Amino acid sequence: MLLVHKYGGTSVGTPERIKNVAGKLARLKREGNDLVIVVSAMGDTTDELIELAKSISSSPSRRELDALMSTGEQISGALMAMALEDFGIPAISLTGWQAGIYTDENAGRARIKSVDATRIKEELKKGKVIVVAGFQGICDQNDITTLGRGGSDTTAVALGIALGVEKIEIFTDVKGVYTADPRLVKNARKLDVISYDEMLELASQGARVMHTRAVELGWIYKMKIEVKSSFEDCPGTIIQEVSEMEPVSRVRGIAHKKDIAKITLKRVLDRPGVAHRIFKPLGDAGINVDDIIQNVSEFGYTDISFTIPIDDTDKALQILEKVKEELDIKEVLCNPAVGKVSIVGVGIQSTPGIAAKMFGLLGEAGINIDMISTSEIKIGCIINEEDVERAIKVLHDGFGLGENS
Ligand code: ADP
Ligand code: ASP
Ligand code: MG
Repeated sequence: MLLVHKYGGTSVGTPERIKNVAGKLARLKREGNDLVIVVSAMGDTTDELIELAKSISSSPSRRELDALMSTGEQISGALMAMALEDFGIPAISLTGWQAGIYTDENAGRARIKSVDATRIKEELKKGKVIVVAGFQGICDQNDITTLGRGGSDTTAVALGIALGVEKIEIFTDVKGVYTADPRLVKNARKLDVISYDEMLELASQGARVMHTRAVELGWIYKMKIEVKSSFEDCPGTIIQEVSEMEPVSRVRGIAHKKDIAKITLKRVLDRPGVAHRIFKPLGDAGINVDDIIQNVSEFGYTDISFTIPIDDTDKALQILEKVKEELDIKEVLCNPAVGKVSIVGVGIQSTPGIAAKMFGLLGEAGINIDMISTSEIKIGCIINEEDVERAIKVLHDGFGLGENS
């Protein structure tokens, strides 16, 4: 059987761990399986490479940053192939471009356009284990691109689809997808199965256990994804289409984000086209704006607030300074000390009482809600960053999600 596995940063964080994984893969190979293995960079390598870049330049170009960041996965890939060879297993490491992963030109957040698996298939025919550097590809200009933080998951799903397997396995440092981040909520419960839409919402609301685009891609191609531990041999969580009738509206999980900032534009002229003139340049600069709220207009003016990834704050403020002049906005305020907590579950937005319960639980805990956003399957609240961890626990307990609830 052809197996596609992905091993995350912690799972390949030390030479010993790489050897351990290689030992397990050697057994699977000897049992007659073909293997395509996607690896992340070792431990915190990607963060360290970004720091290294910053020690050279305050604003390194995206192209060179991608050239630098992509080396992390090349190191772990080559080491994994060496470890396999030491176990007597023929192996070959491939960079993203050697593996035929073609992306668009958006350095730092490139999307995979296509996969040409010819080389991988040739090497498989020679009996080799293929180790592919995750998180990277090549664009039409022949430049190296990276897929955005956590992007190795997406590499694995894309390869699984190109190779026609039924399921791919994501090996990580927790046993699966939990009702909340198990590092913060001690009695968080591991889910056996989760639907693509719920997983997508959890991921996009901050549950970094899966890269959002990996879930998106898996959903489109109906690729089953199992998230499981690389340290313990036990069943994980299967992300798949959930076809049986679900119990109507229950909260499945709590997700959170701390790495966001809130921008408020004071006294914006309330007239057609103004929102476009504010958000278009932000979008053009690749800034992902979330949770936009416009206040009721008074005397032809309004206030607009929205959140952005905290790393984009400087860039956004620069752009908004120009917009402020052009549109005669009174003030641009930025609060970096905000966070977001979201409850996720099919049908919850349209079920009376769930939103009220969420706000009640936060209120009783003395946690002030700054902004509220909803989607079909999520209710999210922007709150003070320092309240985030308490809010997760309060909601997790309040909705009875814990192991002993
Ligand atoms: P990897 O390096 O293997 O890709 P990540 O650090 O990207 O691992 O993702 C795994 C981490 O995701 C876990 O260590 C955990 O702290 C975090 N996490 C956040 N929310 C959840 C959740 N709902 N279920 C499981 N893990 C979660
Ligand atoms: N190494 C990259 C990161 O840290 C990609 C990944 O781990 O998936 O974001
Ligand atoms: Mg990850």
